Amino acid sequence: MYRELLDLTGRIAVVTGGSRGIGLAVVTALEEFGAHVVIADLLDDAGAAAAASFPSGRVEYTHLDVTDAASVEQTFAGIAERHGAVDILVTSAGIANHQPSLVLERETWDRVLAVNATGTFWCAREAARHMASRGGSIVAIGSMSGELANAPQRQAAYNASKGAVHLAVKSLAIEFAEQNIRINAVAPGYVGTELTKDGVPSDWWDDWVRRTPMARLGRPEEIASLVAFLASDAASYMTGSIVLVDGGYSAW
Ligand code: NAD
Repeated sequence: MYRELLDLTGRIAVVTGGSRGIGLAVVTALEEFGAHVVIADLLDDAGAAAAASFPSGRVEYTHLDVTDAASVEQTFAGIAERHGAVDILVTSAGIANHQPSLVLERETWDRVLAVNATGTFWCAREAARHMASRGGSIVAIGSMSGELANAPQRQAAYNASKGAVHLAVKSLAIEFAEQNIRINAVAPGYVGTELTKDGVPSDWWDDWVRRTPMARLGRPEEIASLVAFLASDAASYMTGSIVLVDGGYSAW
């Protein structure tokens, strides 16, 4: 009985930011549990190559910029038309920024909020529109940075964007419950991906490890396994939850 609850056979899943990193691990987990997965990302070459690497043929790629509201609307409508429904959405598209607030430019603040917060909300809303007939599950990739201001880097825009994601998730959980749509957030601690390598001084990694009780960074698949659980019927009584996966970082 419990194994069957995790089975996603026949479900149509969309993973924004699925071309690499945590998103790609989520694609792999959902596909392994039986779903048909659409990767929606800006990185066309990486996304198309990732999709083609699944021998099942149950992974496809589509270009999507989550900050383009019209394109988000068209993409979800197109997927629902092609496949009959959207059952699962995972929003992993995200960007980071590390700058002290006094030098942060308005453009950067806007961009971080547009991708992480507005992009997540808009995708969740449009997915929900096409889940209405049979319910569904949405999992937003938030961050422990939506719950606390981590160190040593300065990243007010990122933290604010993830805080917005977490409260949007709680708000939408209340609104969507009537339509049998669940929505939860997974809040990772530090995970080794391009996001945590890009432009990051190497001594920050040592600092992050020192501040993490498990004394290591997480791996993308350690986030993906929880996402797959939340996407499945095994989590049928969970909605509006923010689940931390951070090696104990927030437990001090
Ligand atoms: P990543 O950079 O490897 O992947 C992010 C993906 O999002 C990329 O494929 C990128 O092309 C895509 N993307 C960016 N902007 C987009 C846009 N406008 N439209 C569509 N796609 C877009 O990073 P990751 O570490 O895999 O991050 C995935 C998510 O996890 C992000 O939301 C991030 O904030 C969150 N997160 C990561 C960590 C970490 O330590 N890596 C920790 C907490 C939360």
